[in-house]
Amino acid sequence: MDFLPIFINIRNRPCVVIGGGEVASRKVSLLQRAGGDVTVVSPVLCTTLKQQLDNKTIIFIEASFAASQLDKAALVIACTDDAGVNKAVHEAAVLRNIPVNVVDNPHLCTFIMPSIIDRSPIVAAVSSGGISPVLARIVRTRLETLIPEATGKLGQLAADYRDRVKAKFSIVNERRVFWENVLQGPIAEMVFAGQDRKARHAIDEELQNAGSMKTGEVYLVGGGPGDPDLLTFRALRLMQQADVIVHDRLVSQEVLDLCRRDAEMIYVGKERNKHTLQQEGINELLVRLAREGKRVCRLKGGDPFIFGRGGEEIDTLVDEGIPFQVVPGVTAASGAASYAGIPLTHRDYSQSVVFVTGHLKDGTSNLNWPGLVQPNQTLVFYMGLVGVEAICKGLIEHGMSKDMPMSLVQKATTRDQKILIGTLENMPELVKKSAIKPPTLIIVGEVVSLHDKLNWFEPERVEH
Ligand code: SAH
Repeated sequence: MDFLPIFINIRNRPCVVIGGGEVASRKVSLLQRAGGDVTVVSPVLCTTLKQQLDNKTIIFIEASFAASQLDKAALVIACTDDAGVNKAVHEAAVLRNIPVNVVDNPHLCTFIMPSIIDRSPIVAAVSSGGISPVLARIVRTRLETLIPEATGKLGQLAADYRDRVKAKFSIVNERRVFWENVLQGPIAEMVFAGQDRKARHAIDEELQNAGSMKTGEVYLVGGGPGDPDLLTFRALRLMQQADVIVHDRLVSQEVLDLCRRDAEMIYVGKERNKHTLQQEGINELLVRLAREGKRVCRLKGGDPFIFGRGGEEIDTLVDEGIPFQVVPGVTAASGAASYAGIPLTHRDYSQSVVFVTGHLKDGTSNLNWPGLVQPNQTLVFYMGLVGVEAICKGLIEHGMSKDMPMSLVQKATTRDQKILIGTLENMPELVKKSAIKPPTLIIVGEVVSLHDKLNWFEPERVEH
């Protein structure tokens, strides 16, 4: 370890920045965020610092550097473009035992500035000892995905309850177990999901029952269209902490592979006409698992609220008083459109987009055909493979041109993605001739013509 990592308290203490440019301005802001009283020494100031001066948020010494300016400083940062001045600052500071940082010059630093993730009161700092700031930044970015934005709020909650918890559990070990449960269990997730009041209520209850939390919770998570890179940070985090994963056919293997290794996996596959567990059974299963105190991740393909029956599943949870949260996912329409180079809207071609189910009950009668056949509108049919012929026929019969461009995307965003491009007239024939497999998405509209030019995703063909 080349440097000792420490956090310094500079609240209301004098900090001196030598230099008046943009870099100096960034350092000033950072010092102010930690409550430092900043003096800037420079013959001139950049616009941002002038603004600070006008707002009286800095003290300005309009002069060149002189050692005496450091006399009362708690900390000094030099960021001038004059190597001689930077060196003089270093020497003057060392002589006075004041911590000094010279920007971009590790040899002249007695302290260095880490790359930080600020979720105050939680702050994570990463340093490469000045060797490779870029690498430090990359590591920081990785960490950032693991520390939810609301971690600060969680820290605040812990601070607010600290004394009460201490009074309740006098034994250190009991206290630790209590906090571990709160800070990485359902209560933490409530805070992350913006359910602050609920979280405080839950912690009150926990305190009353002396840490005997019985009910688990359910995360209704959108797993996206297939490519695991399209998961949200929150989806990934919940997948990795759930005790049970309840998933179905649409969730790709690559996404499932990211779930917690020792989680119990329950498949409730919903293949057409072959529902392994009927919807009611799934709803009941979720309730039963949560009642056993488990954290249940109900993982669904795409977005849970788009043709995912997510509404029905949480409806039962509400009735049964089970805590839950919903995590959106990239829906198949977004995934397929992006990965096929077909913008769903476009100034020149389409001002609206309609998501519609192609799973046609009693033939075709239940769709609002006139509403679908509108100018400058893109149509996206989910579950449309079986009904493709009926869809094309219905649209033509209700006045859409038989030459309207149309696309069918198989297993969008995955290595097995395959795209058919045609028209309302010839698509049924194209589908018959190809070995297309579900899941597929149908896109109808002028925007499909943009595919030729905008297509960018060309996975290596995987033959099975
Ligand atoms: N909740 C899901 C949709 C569930 S309905 C979502 O938001 O995406 C199931 C239909 O979604 C499938 O019949 C198919 O039309 C579509 N679908 C899901 N994933 C797909 C994929 N990777 N490629 C093409 N279509 C997909």
